[in-house]
Amino acid sequence: MRFEYAPAPESRDVVDIKPSYGLFVNGEFTEGGGTPFKSVNPADETVLAEIACADEADVDRAVQAARKAFETWSALPGSERAKYLFRIARIVQERARELAVLESLDNGKPIRESRDVDLPLVAAHFFYYAGWADKLKHAGFGPDPRPLGVAGQIIPWNFPLLMLAWKIAPALACGNTVVLKPAETTPLTALAFAEICVQAGLPAGVVNIVTGAGATGAAVAGHADVNKVAFTGSTEVGRLIARSVAGTGKKLTLELGGKAANIVFEDAAIDQAVEGIVTGIFFNQGHVCCAGSRLLVQESIQEELLGALKRRLATLRLGDPLDKNTDIGAINSAEQLARIRTLADAGEQEGADRWSPSCPLPDKGFWFPPTLFTGVAQSHRIAREEIFGPVLSVLTFRTPAEAVEKANNTPYGLSAGVWTEKGSRILWLADKLRAGVVWANTFNRFDPASPFGGYKESGYGREGGRHGLEAYLDV
Ligand code: ADP
Repeated sequence: MRFEYAPAPESRDVVDIKPSYGLFVNGEFTEGGGTPFKSVNPADETVLAEIACADEADVDRAVQAARKAFETWSALPGSERAKYLFRIARIVQERARELAVLESLDNGKPIRESRDVDLPLVAAHFFYYAGWADKLKHAGFGPDPRPLGVAGQIIPWNFPLLMLAWKIAPALACGNTVVLKPAETTPLTALAFAEICVQAGLPAGVVNIVTGAGATGAAVAGHADVNKVAFTGSTEVGRLIARSVAGTGKKLTLELGGKAANIVFEDAAIDQAVEGIVTGIFFNQGHVCCAGSRLLVQESIQEELLGALKRRLATLRLGDPLDKNTDIGAINSAEQLARIRTLADAGEQEGADRWSPSCPLPDKGFWFPPTLFTGVAQSHRIAREEIFGPVLSVLTFRTPAEAVEKANNTPYGLSAGVWTEKGSRILWLADKLRAGVVWANTFNRFDPASPFGGYKESGYGREGGRHGLEAYLDV
């Protein structure tokens, strides 16, 4: 007998969403010159709030505020800057429940993930870089590493607050000031973060948040008085930004797309591997640049593994992101849903076999069932292009050399996973795989002390760890 789950929704009373939000410039909320836009709850398509849109003049004001604040912020002893970062980290922890609910409402991700993954990592990131602020001289970048100045930072919608933390924590620790643009579909936690900056008593202008879409992002990256541009998002926009920054002397880091291989050998612990495959591609609806979207399974265990994987997928619960038992939440936007559908349809048209468990989708909102493609050839679009959704392409291999060949046969190189009992094989593969992160017998694990970043079209520069400091220092 199978028991049904009772609904277990997290209360949304802990969040107080205002009807409208302004830009956060020089420590104050102000109006924007562009046409305001709406942020929508992707789980039911209701409007959450109206958001100001920053035009070029607003971005200029924000950069000027950051420039002015840089004089005093960069002159503070590192131990003083650390105090602010520790304070921010503690406020994030205190307000974690509220921020998790807000994130799930605005993004569509399950509360279990925003509560247990995003928010703890956000706080951990601020704690981690707070610890570096007074130790920069010992970070291996020379006896007196200097900050760069004003950092223009543009982030995507898949981990809104976590990407903000990845960008802002190291920038501030190193003595820079920032102008950050959140994604247009998920601005709410960045605006809550602006309130946290006020609450922490952070000097005005050190952090500025400008909301808007691509044009606002382009104004941030293109501003002549920005010294450093940090971008996480699509490879396509990354290319545009690289072009706009080329020859200007601005320092640039890009964290772009991925098409990671998750490689399972015949000696792997199958049940553990199945969990890792599920985490690899269905975590955060597959809206993860390092998602394990290509499963490479050794031919001898293909049948057994796929059987176990399908049984596991049939137990995933899709629905209300605020329900504590939900595994798969809503797709972040109608545009993203359309992109996922197009690529999944292409998979079928090109001859791969599509499978999903029985999975009723809610009537309202943006939803896509967990989907598996078998019989995938390396030339298929679903094996080459980033889908950024809950869609797994399964390919097979016979020998370790073939696994390496297929894993590396992609323009991307952000991450990879290896499942095997043999330590020597893990080390051999880690050396051969052209990927910034290689997980062994696990997947999608993050730690602020561990650097993250890509090879090839997945971008350049590293975020996290000691390496993450380099992107914000004049070295
Ligand atoms: P996705 O395809 O995942 O939506 P994008 O690369 O389009 O990713 O978006 C990532 C971030 O880049 C968002 O904050 C978006 O507003 C911003 N953006 C989009 N176009 C541009 C542009 N031309 N210049 C700068 N930023 C941009």
